[in-house]
Amino acid sequence: MSKHYKIAVLPGDGIGPEVMREAIKVIDVLKQMDPSFHIELHSYPWGSEYYLKHGEIMPRDGFQELIKYDALLFGAVGDKRVPDEITIWDFIMPIRKNFNQYINFRPVKLLKGVESPLKDSENIEFVIIRENAEGEYSNSGGTLYSGTDSEIAIQNTIVTKSGVEKVAKYAFEYARKNNFKSVVSATKSNAIIHSMKLWDEIVVKVSKDYPEISMQSNYIDALAAYFVSKPKEFEVVVASNLFGDILSDLGAAVVGGLGLSPSANLNPEGDFPSMFEPVHGSAPDIAGKNIANPIAQIWSTALMLKHLGRDDLGALIIDAIQEVLRKKEVRTPDLGGTAKTIEMGSAICDAIKLMMSKERVEI
Ligand code: ATP
Repeated sequence: MSKHYKIAVLPGDGIGPEVMREAIKVIDVLKQMDPSFHIELHSYPWGSEYYLKHGEIMPRDGFQELIKYDALLFGAVGDKRVPDEITIWDFIMPIRKNFNQYINFRPVKLLKGVESPLKDSENIEFVIIRENAEGEYSNSGGTLYSGTDSEIAIQNTIVTKSGVEKVAKYAFEYARKNNFKSVVSATKSNAIIHSMKLWDEIVVKVSKDYPEISMQSNYIDALAAYFVSKPKEFEVVVASNLFGDILSDLGAAVVGGLGLSPSANLNPEGDFPSMFEPVHGSAPDIAGKNIANPIAQIWSTALMLKHLGRDDLGALIIDAIQEVLRKKEVRTPDLGGTAKTIEMGSAICDAIKLMMSKERVEI
């Protein structure tokens, strides 16, 4: 009997609900076209509006609720009326940390029909594997003497041997599984001499178990330049929380922008639900205008289906996205066109329908 998937949908703030609507449309089309695909979506209105109404960004028992699901599909969070301490540290970060989603998986791929700002850009395709549960994004620290000339702020970075080991192993296993020849590690151990030194040591140690894969450490500043000067050379890049975050926006820019960049927050052991979300945030500058590109959200949905074991449906979504982009008929403003969010979502749904009905005829 085919599995029945239960998904929690968290559209969140800004463009989140607009792009999520299109991702749900895609799931509905897959359900219509494939009777063996059973999926149930439950949407939660948590986020900044919820906070302004209820005084909390999600209910206290929210985690007990979310843990019941096979996966979480997340939109975006961020609103200038609500402090970042709330939107980030009471919502998205606790989900990643409590559910031990210690891998942030971010594909960087230039799809056909999309222009890169780089001249020599054909065949850019690599993946950034970002540590997602510790590192620079910690709430350890504090301030002293606030508002005086003696004000002090201390922000601690937490790097653990087991944390680095897990992310490095994931990166090398991913490279092995996909027959890649190299893993590049982002570091800055020349200047950040404690935490990054430990990072380097552990990555090198893990790499010894993968003799067929070459390992190179690059300082983050040089690596940022290489993303522009020689992006085709990368296959797998492994990075700490902060470095991975910055590199993925840079990676996104190289392959057409944030509207096209998906991500997965993974708990590889499956002890907790994993969460799938676009790399972009709430994009307040374009929110409410129905012009956001929904591809990053739809592609993140494809990653979710692959993670759930429906590789076929995930691949189909990506093919449909590719087909729409290749044709260049429907393009949102970030891609130089005038299409609305809804039109882009509908074009992808139509492409899926066409592909699935062709498959049926061929069978
Ligand atoms: P947040 O504070 O929620 O992270 P932000 O403004 O810092 O929001 P993003 O939401 O990542 O950052 O947006 C950065 C830029 O990219 C903005 O100019 C935004 O309009 C653009 N952008 C982001 N997502 C999309 C999208 N899906 N389609 C088109 N443009 C986008």
